[in-house]
Amino acid sequence: MEATPAAVTPPLLQAWNAVGTGGALLVEGAELVRVDLPFVAPVGTAVGTHRSRPLVLVHLRCRRPDGGEAVDGWGECAALGDTTYDAEDVDGVWSTLERVLLPGLAAGARSIGGLLPPVGSLESLAGLAPGHPLAYAALETAVADAHLRAAGTSFAGLLGVAGSEVAPGAVLGTADSPAELLDAVARCADAGFVRVKVKIVPGSELATVSALAGWADSAPGNVPRFQVDANGAYGSEDLDRLVALDPYGLLCIEQPFARHDLASHRELAARIRTPVCLDESLDGPAAVRAAVVSGTCSVVCVKPARLGGIGAALDVVAWCSAGGIPWWVGGMFESGLGRRVTTALGALAGPVLPGDLAPTESYLAADLVGPERSHVVPGSGHLVVAVSGDPGMAPVPDAAALATHRVHRLELGLDS
Ligand code: MG
Repeated sequence: MEATPAAVTPPLLQAWNAVGTGGALLVEGAELVRVDLPFVAPVGTAVGTHRSRPLVLVHLRCRRPDGGEAVDGWGECAALGDTTYDAEDVDGVWSTLERVLLPGLAAGARSIGGLLPPVGSLESLAGLAPGHPLAYAALETAVADAHLRAAGTSFAGLLGVAGSEVAPGAVLGTADSPAELLDAVARCADAGFVRVKVKIVPGSELATVSALAGWADSAPGNVPRFQVDANGAYGSEDLDRLVALDPYGLLCIEQPFARHDLASHRELAARIRTPVCLDESLDGPAAVRAAVVSGTCSVVCVKPARLGGIGAALDVVAWCSAGGIPWWVGGMFESGLGRRVTTALGALAGPVLPGDLAPTESYLAADLVGPERSHVVPGSGHLVVAVSGDPGMAPVPDAAALATHRVHRLELGLDS
């Protein structure tokens, strides 16, 4: 019998797993921080309205051995303030990080002389908290941030995309009227967004999409492509409503049915030419492969936290790109910390569609770090965001901004 060929680890995943193997950092402590950032305007989806952006941050305090300089590691958790997107909300991830993951990291550090473990050794920590990928992803990011900062390497540099530019897509929440929606669309077009994602709810989807098409027919200047996101609000009885959207040339219909209703997604995909995209349903690389191979979706929304971290996201990106499966980077209304990370991912080569990578100032009234550089390209009129090469996953949060927006913090010793 022939031996089964060993799975080949993609080069970028290899590079990610090697982060931290070349240097040594002592872990001295950790801090959990909860901040609350104001939105420019409330964000409505089919399943709820978000009025501000609460965030949990993981902060690791490290030091180079022999009394050397301090090195910080920060990781932003993608969990929302409620469970409308995912079972993990900010209170849940706080508890998981405090009770399970940070003590697990401390135990791992003690087993290697108090050193911060390399990224490639963190998989056992994920195993301590099954079903909590968002909490794990924040810890993974904080560990990588410290190691990369100590090495003077940026995440974008690790991926080979530092200095490149990404054309972001915009995300619009539900609007009170078609006129209000079209005003918002026009502002996105004027700003140079190449794609606008619109939230839809059962019953008004056709009016929404036909209004977008009517606007596009008469719009001057930059006309973005449109995609719609239902956040799982439709049931199998609504198939015909979604089929009726097929003539409008949408980039994709995102997560129309509940996360576990793969049969309805498959049926819809078989009935329309518009690509069906999964978001909430994809909880790891295995789920992505199964969904694509079974015809349940033909476009993949890559959200590192939902997939189980950056390593899992790189696995998915490599698999999709090798197979020519279109993918794009989804957003969680991150602060500038999280968005630096997703923007770097969105700059990777491959069959990549515009991601939810709008500059944070388009949706946050205050941020924890300065904005990414962005500009409108002469000629095309398209907005692009520059991928920065700052050491680490993202810059260290601004101390004054943290103090202003912090609502809770917890200091945890990891050295005992
Ligand atoms: Mg979505």
